[in-house]
Amino acid sequence: MDHQTLAKIVDDAGRQGLNRRSFLRLGAAGAGSLLLTPASARAATKTRSSARIVIAGAGAAGLAAASHLAACLEGASITLVDARKEHFYQPGFTLVAAGIKPMSYVVSATRDYLPAGVELIEEAVAEFDPEGNKLVTASGKPVPYDYLIVATGLKLDYAAIAGMEVEQIGNNGLGSIYHSPAKAEATWRAMSNFADTGGVGVFLRPGTEMKCAGAPLKYTFITDDYLRRRGNRGKAELVYNANNKALFSVPIVHEKVRMLFEDRGVKVNYERILESVDIGRKLAVFKTPIGPVELQYDFINVIPPMRAPDPVRNSPLRWQEGGWANDGWIEVDKHNLRHKRFANVFALGDVAGVPKGKTAASVKWQVPVAVDHLLASIEGRESSAHYGGYTSCPLITRLGQAMLVEFDYKDNLVPSFPGVIAPLEELWISWVMKTMALKPTYISMLRGRA
Ligand SMILES: Cc1cc2nc3c(=O)[nH]c(=O)nc-3n(C[C@H](O)[C@H](O)[C@H](O)COP(=O)(O)OP(=O)(O)OC[C@H]3O[C@@H](n4cnc5c(N)ncnc54)[C@H](O)[C@@H]3O)c2cc1C
Repeated sequence: MDHQTLAKIVDDAGRQGLNRRSFLRLGAAGAGSLLLTPASARAATKTRSSARIVIAGAGAAGLAAASHLAACLEGASITLVDARKEHFYQPGFTLVAAGIKPMSYVVSATRDYLPAGVELIEEAVAEFDPEGNKLVTASGKPVPYDYLIVATGLKLDYAAIAGMEVEQIGNNGLGSIYHSPAKAEATWRAMSNFADTGGVGVFLRPGTEMKCAGAPLKYTFITDDYLRRRGNRGKAELVYNANNKALFSVPIVHEKVRMLFEDRGVKVNYERILESVDIGRKLAVFKTPIGPVELQYDFINVIPPMRAPDPVRNSPLRWQEGGWANDGWIEVDKHNLRHKRFANVFALGDVAGVPKGKTAASVKWQVPVAVDHLLASIEGRESSAHYGGYTSCPLITRLGQAMLVEFDYKDNLVPSFPGVIAPLEELWISWVMKTMALKPTYISMLRGRA
């Protein structure tokens, strides 16, 4: 979609409300944080190959990669390995936790997106053996490969927070939008109760890398908005605890959010990492440069540390040194997602050890690049496909408004529609993208069509 067309849709939508026709045009364009269509990896003629390609993880990246590969190859064996039968549309978790969408909005079946001819082994990977070119499933079954794509996502390490009990999410003012669709819904109930009564609301992000770093901020804004709508903002104190000295890794976005928080009366603490919670006493303890600091809360949105899943973290695939080694992120070239030591291995999505990119929007841009490099190896050619770190976050700032923040490895803002959708402006159209156009585009991505 070109800028004039989008500008016209935005204009029409602003004047008439977003009608069905303009919505479909927006969705068809791949609007929202999964913006624009990268050069499709689908070839006009398929490459014949007997290669065995195994994809660990059938989430956003695994399914999208399988779809692209199935469209390009004939005769190859493509196998997905994942124990989870349900597919979660995770960008929708925030909307469930905001009471805007039901849980069913984010849950579907993995098999719904399985491309023809692709096998699915419904087991977890227990061990990666890149020297032996095989992985081993939880039941002990070895799965050999010629090429491996690791797309296992990440592990939410709730156990690293002392006192945290995930079964309690939804009770006693304890929220956590990341855990699962059910717990996102339970968080909505807890947050809604808080919006009825007021008190102290505590928000935070973990000290590790995380998926969708905008989500903790969005939920703070959403809570603020509900308190205002219910006439209780004056009875509440909202406190956001940043893990380091910034609210967002991109400096200009940090500054914008800092100003908005100041405007909305959200207090900010820097360099605070949640260490423990006492659920009964509603007490959170944060690690800070001056020692542990206690915060009493009436509502808290716990976001746990995030690391590579254990089988990845315990494997030779992880970074061997540097900041990402301990958490087990996979050692890949940030521009083509190929493993730096095992040339027949790629990592996609959240598990990849690259500086940004832990969003579904990044997956959309990573998959065609890695797939092209894999196909180039099969076909005996060089690939020039390149991933520049595109990451995006439709940052909801109140119900009905969002900022569409898109950036790359260099912290440059890379708006898909410059001059039409300003990245740091709170706009209704960016809200529409997040709440309506993003999911159809995400589903198209799983099917290799976006
Ligand atoms: C609350 C929230 C809000 C978000 N908001 C946005 C947003 O607005 N925009 C956006 O673009 N992104 C957003 N995201 C991030 C986005 O959902 C993820 O970045 C994306 O899903 C990453 O895809 P993935 O394939 O790497 O991981 P996933 O989609 O999580 O898939 C990983 C798969 O690997 C499987 N797996 C795990 N361990 C193993 C194993 N040992 N063996 C085999 N399989 C395994 C899992 O079962 C899962 O199916 C959000 C995420 C959350 C939680």
